[in-house]
Amino acid sequence: MKAHIMNRKAAPAAVIIAVSAVVSLLTIILHKQSVSVCSYDGEDIMSIYEVNIKIKNGGMLRFCSVYCAEAWFRENSPEAASVTVTDELTGEKLDASLAIFVESDVVSVAATNNRIHVFKDEYQAREHAKQYNGRIVDNPFSLSK
Ligand SMILES: [Zn+2]
Repeated sequence: MKAHIMNRKAAPAAVIIAVSAVVSLLTIILHKQSVSVCSYDGEDIMSIYEVNIKIKNGGMLRFCSVYCAEAWFRENSPEAASVTVTDELTGEKLDASLAIFVESDVVSVAATNNRIHVFKDEYQAREHAKQYNGRIVDNPFSLSK
């Protein structure tokens, strides 16, 4: 009789363990899906450095850094319809043609050794350049119309 009672107590505990295992597995899977990876090298994308390239067939490619987007763009620029970059100070997305690019000693995305920084504000871009031995460079994403 005693053993019987123990079993009845053990059963709900086993159910709870099984349920929480399933829940944590689902959490991991959902988390994996919500983190986007770079179309060029498969690295996780930090949204503050993200570059998006809309392609002419309607698709959208996402990159972890200017470095990766530029590498793709060099080979495929005729396919690109528009390029959106991220101001690394505010996280604001803006068209690459409106952004100011600074190459400096600071590495933003370690996986790619990316040293090209994106600013919306020209004053901030010049300050970054002054502080980190940088220089303003041309927009690497000039679209062929
Ligand atoms: Zn990348």
